[in-house]
Amino acid sequence: MCVGYKVGFHVSIAGGISNSVDNAKSIGCTAFQIFSRNPRGWAAKPLAPDDVAAFKSKLAASGIERNCTMVHMPYLPNLSGPSGEMHKKSIDTLAGEIRRAGELGIPYLIIHLGSHLGQGHEAGVIQLINAVNLAIDLEGRKGADVMVLLENNAGQKNSIGATFEELRTILDKLQGARVGICFDTCHAFASGYDLRTTRSVEKTLDAFDKTIGLKEMKVVHLNDSKGILGSNLDRHEHIGLGNIGGEGIAAFLTHKRILQIPIIMETPIDEKRNDAKNLRAFCELAS
Ligand code: ZN
Ligand code: ZN
Ligand code: ZN
Repeated sequence: MCVGYKVGFHVSIAGGISNSVDNAKSIGCTAFQIFSRNPRGWAAKPLAPDDVAAFKSKLAASGIERNCTMVHMPYLPNLSGPSGEMHKKSIDTLAGEIRRAGELGIPYLIIHLGSHLGQGHEAGVIQLINAVNLAIDLEGRKGADVMVLLENNAGQKNSIGATFEELRTILDKLQGARVGICFDTCHAFASGYDLRTTRSVEKTLDAFDKTIGLKEMKVVHLNDSKGILGSNLDRHEHIGLGNIGGEGIAAFLTHKRILQIPIIMETPIDEKRNDAKNLRAFCELAS
């Protein structure tokens, strides 16, 4: 049914990072995303060597390909904000997460681009570029083999990276750095890119291809949207039950480029559905 797709969920690391592999396997993932630590705090304990070893051996035995695993950055850093203590801490956190992903052998780190906090897009982009370059240089020199993926956002006030044009500008300015794009369908839809019909999916992906290039899309976050088109609302809905809906998601999933990319769902778990049920909905729409 789902043959050919690399698909899964954001899974928990509670009790140790290596548990994420068991969690992913138990719901039938062929790709998965984790936080490397508590996403709502600044402090992070160094990774325990035995946990790293257990993660690697479980992953190797799991049948899940290493290039279908990814780390998501914690939520507090703001890489596009003005210089100062907060920006410095954000760069430190980014460097730390690149290091941790590298230690785990995970090839991708997905980052939110943050907010310019009223300083304007140009200033925000400069801060972001400096932050990403600094962190990648630092950890790259120490040997971390991790690609940083910029995630498009829902276009909330002052946020950086909602439009394909701005993402292209950022990639251009980061030339030489190992970066790519994580495309979140809910965020794209909320920021005004229609994905509800076969035609609108084609139009949106064509625009992405012309402006950014589909080859830069390394990971997909497949989420339906609680908000309407252009609402700038970052609220994820179960697959097919939101304002994007089944037709759009089916068209998106059967696009030839999307077939080759690891797909992660960051859908809610509630009385309507759990992850297993969203995976079933995915497979039905993808077939
Ligand atoms: Zn994200
Ligand atoms: Zn996302
Ligand atoms: Zn979101």
